Amino acid sequence: MQLARTVEELRAWRRGAPPTLGFVPTMGALHEGHLDLVRFARSQNAAVVASVFVNPLQFGAGEDLARYPRDLEGDREKLAATGVDLLFAPDATEIYPEGFTTTIDVGSVAEGFEGALRPGHFRGVATVVGKLLHLVAPQRLYVGQKDAQQSAVLRRLVRDLAFDCTVSIVPTVRETDGLAMSSRNVYLDERERRAAPSLHRTLRRFVELLQAGRSVEVARTEASAVLEAPGKLDYLACVDAESFAPLATLRANAFAIAAAHFGRTRLLDNLWFPQ
Ligand code: AMP
Repeated sequence: MQLARTVEELRAWRRGAPPTLGFVPTMGALHEGHLDLVRFARSQNAAVVASVFVNPLQFGAGEDLARYPRDLEGDREKLAATGVDLLFAPDATEIYPEGFTTTIDVGSVAEGFEGALRPGHFRGVATVVGKLLHLVAPQRLYVGQKDAQQSAVLRRLVRDLAFDCTVSIVPTVRETDGLAMSSRNVYLDERERRAAPSLHRTLRRFVELLQAGRSVEVARTEASAVLEAPGKLDYLACVDAESFAPLATLRANAFAIAAAHFGRTRLLDNLWFPQ
């Protein structure tokens, strides 16, 4: 596996790259969820590029940018062992050189839920992934269903700006107790970690109630009781998978989505109802 730390090094590699490229953007501190994206990319492309970049533009003031887990050496080993051809791991100044002001706003899909709770977050995500797609120019982009709204934002980005690539959404990889794997799980203390899988159970109960004909409001109230202390629900909802507009009933091409705080850590989860 080659390592590129600069845009120039990436471009030099790209000029001699194989004909089909899969791309997996990450913020590092890699776990099995990230590696599953790499495995999908490996199975469908002649070569795989992964990036590790903790993107300052997608963190709000008071969020965890400074303490976000970083382990580039460990990440390098895992990516090499999983069959990545090129790792792009730039510094922030490489992506955002002095005077950088151009950003990407994808509009309404980025405005509710995570977008409302984390103003500017999806502008940061769309801007960095737009820049990375432009540099890597892959045929296929791989993103996790775990971050459902992010996946909808990125599909919008690719469609609207006509990036010449497809977007593959890879199912969420979970711990054996149901907790969705996340780099932020390392923040959880023992009590929070014990309670955290109840977010997934809350979501499943919510869906059961909707499928039994309860309204979203009633299902939300009843299902909230499943969340264990110290978990605090931010939202529990049903949305259209493309627009992320709230839905009154569960139907095809929808996500049931949930977010909760466990202490200082926010966790997300969702269930997808395809066509
Ligand atoms: P991150 O490093 O958190 O920005 O995530 C990088 C990519 O990995 C994103 O497309 C995420 O949606 C995806 N991802 C994160 N956690 C998981 C998981 N548990 N299962 C599958 N994909 C994931």
